[in-house]
Amino acid sequence: MTKSAQSCARDNARPDLRDTTRAVIMELAQILTRAANDPGPQPDPIELSVQEPSDLKRFWVKVRKGPRNECWPWQGSIACSGYGTFVARRKRLLAHRYAYVAAKGPIAPGLLVLHSCDNPACVNPRHLRAGSAAENAADRVKRNRAQCGERHYAAILSEADVIAIRASRDTRSVLAKRYGVGQRTIGQIKRNESWKHLLPKPRGKIR
Ligand SMILES: [Zn+2]
Repeated sequence: MTKSAQSCARDNARPDLRDTTRAVIMELAQILTRAANDPGPQPDPIELSVQEPSDLKRFWVKVRKGPRNECWPWQGSIACSGYGTFVARRKRLLAHRYAYVAAKGPIAPGLLVLHSCDNPACVNPRHLRAGSAAENAADRVKRNRAQCGERHYAAILSEADVIAIRASRDTRSVLAKRYGVGQRTIGQIKRNESWKHLLPKPRGKIR
């Protein structure tokens, strides 16, 4: 091979090398983009909040604690479903779930917190147990709990369900299955496009 032919061969090799390098960079960029877009498991706002002494103090101040085995009614906001709600970390959280996590630790994935006393405003941890959505539905039917005004005849979700969905770290498909609605409905709730009356009041700063 002549000198000029060798040089020509090197010149021809360079674009290949550049293409390979470019391809590797593009692939890396795609991997990084995918990783950045994947939020991964989201921390549970209740679990985070109960680790905050000021939040815990603010929570228990709103509870009328009575004798250990009696109901402890929530004195803060009550949703029309009868459940207490507590705003922390810019989310409206269910007070009975909050009390459960504060007293007993995290709620196992997919489980709800059920009342043994049939008093939705009660936050006495001794009256709370973790159970499945099916158990909850059975309890509702058994007790024929009054449905609230917003509960349109066609609505599947209750206010308590919506609050729980907003606060949940489970995926849309898991939530859709659990509550018997479409993923689109879950998405609208998560993006605050529906059930807006259950959002924390936009006061700028939440104490
Ligand atoms: Zn109770």
